[in-house]
Amino acid sequence: MNLSEIQKLSLKEKKNLLERTIKLQEETGELAEQVLIAAQSSGSHYKKSAKDGIQHEAIDVALVALSIFFLEGGTPSQLEKAMKAKMAKWKRFQKK
Ligand SMILES: [Mg+2]
Repeated sequence: MNLSEIQKLSLKEKKNLLERTIKLQEETGELAEQVLIAAQSSGSHYKKSAKDGIQHEAIDVALVALSIFFLEGGTPSQLEKAMKAKMAKWKRFQKK
């Protein structure tokens, strides 16, 4: 994954923080919809799942979240450092 490329795209994006945050909610909703379809949840039977729908929507969520991180001034190296710290915390919780 090229974080610098994602940073460049993020900084060229015209959506402001509010719009990106709302977009993130939209993408989260699309991910939830794909999960409901895959689970054959009540009320979802008439909907068709997209090919790799869950994975693609998870990527959409991640990209919009990253665009917010970069819009707020984060850098690729800060992202890597912060992700490592968060992952270490996650790892500690899994040991419990
Ligand atoms: Mg989407």
